Amino acid sequence: MRSNLLSYYRHINYRKCKFAYFHQEAQPLAESVTSWLDDCHISIHYDHIVVLGGVIGRNVEQISVGLGKLIGDIGNDPFFSRLTHPNLSVQRAMILLRKCAVPRMGYLLRVTPPAAIADLASKFDHKLFNTIKVLLDMEGESEENIIKLKQALKPLRHGGFGLTSAVHTSPIAYLSSVASAAAVPVFSEFASAQSQLPNDCPLYQHLSQCIQMITHDTPSSRNLLPRNAASFFTHFTSAQTSTLQHDLNTRAADNQFNKALDEAVQNNNLIELARLLCTSSPHASDWKEAIPTNKDTTLTNTQYQIAARLNLGIPMRSQCPDCHGCHVKNALKNDPYHYLSCPAHRRREITFRHNLVLQVVHRYINYVGGVAVKEPHDLHDADGRRPDLQLILRDLHALCDVRISHPLCPTHVSSAATQPLAVAMLGERIKTNKYKSTAEQHEAKFIPFVMESTGGIGPESAKLLDQIILASRDHNTLWPHEVVSQELRGAVAVAVQKGNAMTMIAGRNLAIGRAAACPAA
Ligand SMILES: [Zn+2]
Repeated sequence: MRSNLLSYYRHINYRKCKFAYFHQEAQPLAESVTSWLDDCHISIHYDHIVVLGGVIGRNVEQISVGLGKLIGDIGNDPFFSRLTHPNLSVQRAMILLRKCAVPRMGYLLRVTPPAAIADLASKFDHKLFNTIKVLLDMEGESEENIIKLKQALKPLRHGGFGLTSAVHTSPIAYLSSVASAAAVPVFSEFASAQSQLPNDCPLYQHLSQCIQMITHDTPSSRNLLPRNAASFFTHFTSAQTSTLQHDLNTRAADNQFNKALDEAVQNNNLIELARLLCTSSPHASDWKEAIPTNKDTTLTNTQYQIAARLNLGIPMRSQCPDCHGCHVKNALKNDPYHYLSCPAHRRREITFRHNLVLQVVHRYINYVGGVAVKEPHDLHDADGRRPDLQLILRDLHALCDVRISHPLCPTHVSSAATQPLAVAMLGERIKTNKYKSTAEQHEAKFIPFVMESTGGIGPESAKLLDQIILASRDHNTLWPHEVVSQELRGAVAVAVQKGNAMTMIAGRNLAIGRAAACPAA
């Protein structure tokens, strides 16, 4: 081999070479071989070796040991400790956690059998969860609230924070990785019914374990997988494998989400059912995806933490059980987010939240070459009703009115528990009934801009946002179309969460102020 290589290269750099030999106990290397390797300064590895960023070893235990050496102590990983640095905002840290920390494990999970990476995956999940706890200020919370916090490890579309658990991903990632390599010659020899994968090889054991784990957690994945490891390469030669990991992950996540819904139904827990549906409705995760590039899309740490607690169904810390705004006893005890629907805050912070959203929509319409006027006068001949916005955008002339409903309040919760966006759609009907005739008088279209405090956007509002984004493309605005697309949704979503946080803080401050004044009186 050396003479062949020498005909192409001037020399071989032996210092960069490694020699792996995993049969030393059964068949020791000859003295002549080891001494030649030593002379060439080629290191010999009898237990495990790092190849292309992954670890191969003579058995599962040795792969695990090799991984430990490769990754080091994940509990003291500087990446995680830097994320909790006070100079980094919680919003930025949570985005980095989702975009950078979770994918760091992706490659290792794909190239390492689940049995060998189980320990590392478990430590990674533990570190990930502890970092979330610190960032969202959940340390010292009750056991019940910590269980709720685990929903953060669910996809964004199911109301989580998109922070995938390495333990759950491991069998899916490894199996999909082997399936995608089914065409390589070393595996293709097992692709016929006559020569299936022998059941005494380690790969057979690993694949069997993966199939068992995946189908145990998600029975509906069975039709995507072979019956057993022996037929693995027969099954995947023709099947589409490029989307296999995504498909299996989606089924596993959907299965978990449906289980949570079923559990809420069985326990007759309307609030939990409504919360699950609301936080997983279209656009409900926009505030988590907003990149804090400007003030419109930036949440302070407190605002982010309150938004996360509302999203996960965890009450704010040390709240007074009674509301000191509307003076209802046990209002907060029965509904921890009572302030978001409290009449005492309706004309104050709740109106402020409405105006924040209105400002964003008004500003962006003008940014993208449209014209929008706030609260136009005398549009209706019979009374003084005024919609929030009159706008012309491309060929659209419309009146628009903004409404933000809290779907988890006692009035709406039973409706919110029926389907996603039920409360937003109800709000759209109410607004349309109120303003439709006014719009008709001006040959304009009426657009109800209705959002839920949990982030969901009504269908009509989503269409208006699409129109604004399209206008930015058609008018070739100074602000690029891609940026408008990303920032508009983020700005609207962040405005709602800012308003929620402001209302919750105002309610709590009122309670603390009254409580402090009582003994003095
Ligand atoms: Zn109240």
